[in-house]
Amino acid sequence: MADSPLPDFSKGHALADIPDNGVVAGKIGDDEVLLGRRGEQVFAIGAHCTHYHGPLAKGLVVGDTIRCPWHHACFSMTTGEPLRAPALDPIDCYDVEHKGDRVFVKGKRAAAPKQTPPVSPESIVIVGGGPAGLAAADMLRRHGYLGPITMLSADEAPPSDRPNLSKEYLAGTAQESWIPLKGDDYFADQKIDLVLNTRVASIDVDQRRVQLENGHGYPYGALLLATGADPVHLTIPGAAAGDVLFLRTLADCNAIIARAASAKRALVIGASFIGLEVAASLRERKLDVHVVAPETQPLERVLDTDLGKMIRGVHEQHGVTFHLGAKVERVDERKVVLSDGTTIADVDFIVAGVGVRPSIALAEQAGLTMDRGVSVNEFLETSEPGVFAAGDLARWPDPHSGERIRVEHFVVAERQGQAAAKNMLGLREPFDLVPFFWSQHYDVTVNYVGHAEKWDKVDVDGDLEGQDCTVTYRQGGRVLAVATVGRDKASLEAEARMEGNLK
Ligand SMILES: Cc1cc2nc3c(=O)[nH]c(=O)nc-3n(C[C@H](O)[C@H](O)[C@H](O)COP(=O)(O)OP(=O)(O)OC[C@H]3O[C@@H](n4cnc5c(N)ncnc54)[C@H](O)[C@@H]3O)c2cc1C
Repeated sequence: MADSPLPDFSKGHALADIPDNGVVAGKIGDDEVLLGRRGEQVFAIGAHCTHYHGPLAKGLVVGDTIRCPWHHACFSMTTGEPLRAPALDPIDCYDVEHKGDRVFVKGKRAAAPKQTPPVSPESIVIVGGGPAGLAAADMLRRHGYLGPITMLSADEAPPSDRPNLSKEYLAGTAQESWIPLKGDDYFADQKIDLVLNTRVASIDVDQRRVQLENGHGYPYGALLLATGADPVHLTIPGAAAGDVLFLRTLADCNAIIARAASAKRALVIGASFIGLEVAASLRERKLDVHVVAPETQPLERVLDTDLGKMIRGVHEQHGVTFHLGAKVERVDERKVVLSDGTTIADVDFIVAGVGVRPSIALAEQAGLTMDRGVSVNEFLETSEPGVFAAGDLARWPDPHSGERIRVEHFVVAERQGQAAAKNMLGLREPFDLVPFFWSQHYDVTVNYVGHAEKWDKVDVDGDLEGQDCTVTYRQGGRVLAVATVGRDKASLEAEARMEGNLK
């Protein structure tokens, strides 16, 4: 049955037909628009998330914000501002006119002028060109910081959409143009001095200066450390260095794609999120894929056994062969020998996805307080005033779990970059957002909110095998985390509940 045409909001819409704390879809000219209501206040906004074009109509309205069902970006419905990453660009906002019991959507509203920040460091240096660094630079400019921003990155590519590197881009279904987090002109337009292929060698916190490996130095008024994490590198007896590949950067991904082009069989070490996503993407490229990992079920340490088993089943249905409870012992030409005696012949290349380690060498050298990562307070400030840390390397006090935690999630890295930026400008905003990540396996996506390193009870609601379920992880009766499959809105609701914004 064909979809009924969207109502034209320029012709008016009955106020009573706009759900309170919900939205209704329509259009203005060619633009898809949502009308939302909170009591007597009516909002008209663009219908799609600016991150991956997710359908906001299927998201969640919380107060005067709307959250995207796909990757939990959050927008103000009053201003269109992207309040929380992963969206970095605003949605459109439209003026609304009330006439009697109807509302009429008018033209697009101009962006609000930028405020002057309470504090304005003389200069800001960001070490790291990943999502945390980029989101910080972006937030500094959005909050009216006019001083110099320098972003120093050891990567050869500008800040990249790393999650896509194990998913569509590796599978061959996304263009390389999807990968940069910001377009070509962004850095020049925003006067952000992005310096690529550049490694910072040391930080002098007394002199407030970073020193590059190439001898150059930069003074800073405030500093953000966002050096992220590096993949753990394995050496496998018998394997030539170039036959074991790792995945962190666009260059790493292109190296895997180049090897896949002429390969028939790949072996993935590690049944973690990245290992499994790589397996899925290589299957999409029609390679024969074997996964070797020591655990008994993939992902059981993070998602528990049942959900891990379901995801394993999805991969097996797509033709992945698992060798669990085993490790790679050695490589003999193209034959891989496992610890349980199994041999896998004709392996063209290996991808190792065996975890990452936070890149903390600089922080250690600078004398910052460490705690299995860089220790930060609720404002993401390190033990050194004026030096902040965000992203994969930072361990922060998480009010939801009551623990000091460090995670390796894209959205958390960006949101911490945003919070650190605001705090550099004196806005004193504690980072108290609920951690969120997603992982994609073929057409099955797992959304996860919260943080549970251990749990004493797991409840599964719904149909695991039917890929329509909510899995709740509890400790002492308290909900620590919720994973969902096929229930995007339930994931948003769980997040809002953990924030205390939903009953
Ligand atoms: C293939 C892949 C898929 C992923 N998929 C997901 C997913 O689906 N969902 C999810 O939530 N997360 C995912 N992640 C994790 C997510 O990408 C990371 O959590 C995120 O990138 C961390 O951001 P960051 O800015 O802290 O660090 P990074 O992205 O690691 O960036 C660190 C930056 O610091 C630079 N750097 C390091 N040392 C120096 C130095 N001394 N001098 C100068 N620069 C330096 C690096 O060059 C880099 O630019 C994925 C990661 C990868 C690699």
